Order: sequence, then structure tokens, then C-alpha cells
Amino acid sequence: MRVRLILAFLLLTPSVGGCAPVLARNGPSQATPAPLVRGTETPTPVPTPSLTPPPMPRPTATPFPVETAVAPPAERLPNVALDVELFYSEHWMRVRQVVELENTTSDTWEHVVFNVPIHYVPSAFFLDAVTITQGEAVATDVPPFESITVLRVPLARPAPPGERILIEMRYRVVVPPVSSTAWPPTGTTGWRWDLLQAGEWYPALVPYIEGKGWHTWFYHPVGDPTFYPLVNYTLTVRADEGITVASGGPVAGLGNYPGLSEDGAWRFRLEGGRGIAFLASDSYQVLIGEADGIPIYSYCLPDHVAAGEAALRIAAESLRLFSALYGPYPYESLAVVENGFFGGMEYSGLISVTDYAYATYPGEAPSLLHALVSHEVAHQWWYGAVGNDQTEEPWLDESMAFYSELLYFEHYYPDQVGWWWQKRVDQYRPQGPVDADIYAFDDSATFILLTYGQAARFVRDLRTLMGDQAFFAFLRDYYRTYQWQTVTADDFFTVVRRHTDEDLSPLLQAYFANPDH
Ligand SMILES: [Zn+2]
Repeated sequence: MRVRLILAFLLLTPSVGGCAPVLARNGPSQATPAPLVRGTETPTPVPTPSLTPPPMPRPTATPFPVETAVAPPAERLPNVALDVELFYSEHWMRVRQVVELENTTSDTWEHVVFNVPIHYVPSAFFLDAVTITQGEAVATDVPPFESITVLRVPLARPAPPGERILIEMRYRVVVPPVSSTAWPPTGTTGWRWDLLQAGEWYPALVPYIEGKGWHTWFYHPVGDPTFYPLVNYTLTVRADEGITVASGGPVAGLGNYPGLSEDGAWRFRLEGGRGIAFLASDSYQVLIGEADGIPIYSYCLPDHVAAGEAALRIAAESLRLFSALYGPYPYESLAVVENGFFGGMEYSGLISVTDYAYATYPGEAPSLLHALVSHEVAHQWWYGAVGNDQTEEPWLDESMAFYSELLYFEHYYPDQVGWWWQKRVDQYRPQGPVDADIYAFDDSATFILLTYGQAARFVRDLRTLMGDQAFFAFLRDYYRTYQWQTVTADDFFTVVRRHTDEDLSPLLQAYFANPDH
């Protein structure tokens, strides 16, 4: 229903216009941030939407089949409502977060546990109040952090199976500045003079493992140090007039602004989200298109409208291709947003891509923009719908997202496949095991440059071993089997073996530290 409403709104407004840290063409040390030429003293100008009609996806030779999407099991998931008062110019926000969940396990709970990555940044997160309600039992508390990012909230009383729990948290986030050359996860929440990005900014529920308890991990600022269960998110952001807010799952919309309500608040709803992020700017341009009936919103800075149009087109092409290769796109919309640091990042229904790729967009393929947008779109399948522990087994989603870049080029720009291998993989001389965890590395750049390329070579060799027909059948089976779940390496290889009788041992020995799968 929501899709229909948004599409109706699109039809009525014809003029509306790592994850994957950057593997820069010349390496990160030579990254040139976008020139800061637009710094003016003008307070919060009303953004001027581009009047350029949304570019249509490039037609492909053979129409892709469109399957019916499998909806997330929303009625069984926790509900998390985030109400944000955003003080954009002052770079902070005041948040009320309400978490409703039921103990659906057979264990009795003493606590509910959250991961708060922004608490890793000194003086950035301030927890002001926590109220826990379980029937008649009510407790108020401001629990201390168990470790740098782990917040263990004691319940008002032990919660037996079936108990419903309501947790209300009030907190403030003082957003730190972010550098254009910072590699994720540093700066996933950060501000720049022309935008503010809120990536890992709220207390996020951690997974509960039956019989073992809440799954926690030590925060380490490499790659994507997170592992989240599915949650139904409702996000409301109130900001000054003239600030455009982008997030996954916009509800309704006014004019060219997806998510903007009559009362001036920005509203978003995501069912079965892994994580919800938002970006805000006083100068975002909004371009709107669609693919396979899925609305796509592209947000870019005013100097980069041509790249923003390209990002929209690449996202639409990627969505159509990956829907055909893997299975239906898992969410009701997709936002593609220019960010302010040196990487791309995936969230549910939202991807953000470095402004470096926009500023250096040459106007045609191949480009870093093509690689990064297709990579982050692929994460909607691999990370979003099919989740995994990104601290212990980051290769599970990253190998698929990274190899999806190649599949994108193979389909749309087959002449550029050699470019992709050279620029995205070979020039960095990747090495080491594919199945390294993030704790094996001291910094994101080394982790990315060494392991992503190895992961791509592993998937290439797996595909060669299986043959194309079996390989692509495996991908569809893997997605269908594990959509709205989380996977391990054993799950991955179990499905591989459903599609091949080849001996996988040499491949596992060559690429994996632990070849016993
Ligand atoms: Zn990635």
C-alpha cells in the first residue's frame, strides 16, 4: 500500500526530479576531497530540487523476470520508534527511543542489551533516562555501559517467555565532525559544513541466541563492526525548515521531498530493517526514479547533480539486475545519498556513497561511482535481507557485495570487466584468508584492500568450479533459503553443495584460514 501511495505522489509531481570504503583509483592517500567552494554564510536556504526528469534505467536486451517479494515477518519483530529533534546547525540531536519487544525465546531474561557504536566517540552520547515497563512493573534507571559500546539494561523484573517489555530511552547525541578522508566506520555519524550523517547513532538491539543469551562483541573500528537482528523501525526527524532529511522507507512525502509530512516532520518506516540511518543537508538535491516498481530517491549536493543522476540510474540498473539474479528486492524503496567521508555504507533501504565518487565522476562508465553504487545496492540483499555477523564473518556479505560490482559491469559494461579487476582488485595485491575477522586488522583500509579482493577472487573461482548455471542457481537458492535470517559460513557452503558435486577442498584450502566447512 505504501508503495502505491508513493507512486501516486510521483505521478502527480512530474518535475520531481563498509561496508564499502573506497578503493580509490590512486589509493586513499591521494584522495582529493571535493573543493569547498560553496561555503557561504547564508542560513539554511530552502533546497532547490532539480527540475531534471528522472533518468530511466537503461533498457536491457532481455527483460528480467519479476518475482513477488517475500515480506519480512514484521508481526514477530521488535518495534523501535525513534523520535529525533535535530539541531542541524549545532550538530546535535535529542532523541526519544521506544523499544517494544516480546520475549519470544524459551529463556527468562534479566536484561535487554543494546550496542551503541557512537558511544565509542568520547563525549558524543549522553543517556539521560531509561524507563522499563512490564505490565504493572515499572523501573527507571540509567545503567552504566558494560563496555565501550555495550549497554545492558536491567529489566523491572525477570521476563519469562511471552512477557512483553517496553523500554523508553531518552538521550542526546553530540555529532562529531567527520573528515572527507575518514574511512568507515570512523565518522559513520559525523557532520561536515554541508551535511550531517547519522549512521550508527542509536542504541541498537543485539541478537539473542537461544540458550546462550544476548550476543555482544568488543567494538573495533574496522569494517562494519555490527551484527543486528531484524527490527521494525519508525523514525521521525524534526529539523529546521530548509533541512532535507534522507532515510530508508519514507512515508508519504511533500513535493520533491520523500518523507516530509504536513507538520514539517520527516517520517520513515522500515519493516525488517537491520539498521536505520539518516543524512541531512541544507542543500541536498532530490532526484526520483524507479525500478521494478520500487521508488528510488537520489540525494546529491548541488555541484554534483550529473553524478546524482548517474547514481540514480546505476542504482536502478543494479536493483533490476540483482533482483533477477538473486531474488526480489527486499524493501519498499531505496535511497541513494551522497555522504561526507571516504567510503560507502549500507543500511536498510538506504545506501550512502562518498562525495569523492560524485566529485570525480567522469560522466560515463567506468567510474568509482558505478562500482560503489552497485556494491551498496547489492548489500540490500547481502547484509539487509540475509544478515551475518559482520565482526566475525565479514566476508559473507562483503564477498557478495563486492562481486556484485563485477556482475554489474559484466551485464551492463562487459568491455570494462578488465578495468574492474585491475582497478578494484589486482592493483592492491590482495592476500591473506578470505575469512579473516575484523580483529585481525588495525585499520579499515588494510582490512578492505586485502580481504575484499581475495573474496572476489574466491567467488570467481567458485563460479568457475561450479559453472555458471549451478553458480547462479546457488545464489537464488541461498537468498530464498535465508532471506530475513542470518547466515554462517557453514550455511553458505551447505547451499553451495546443493548445487555442485565438485570437490571444494582445494578452494577452501587456498582461500580460507578455516577450510572445514
Ligand atoms: Zn560492502
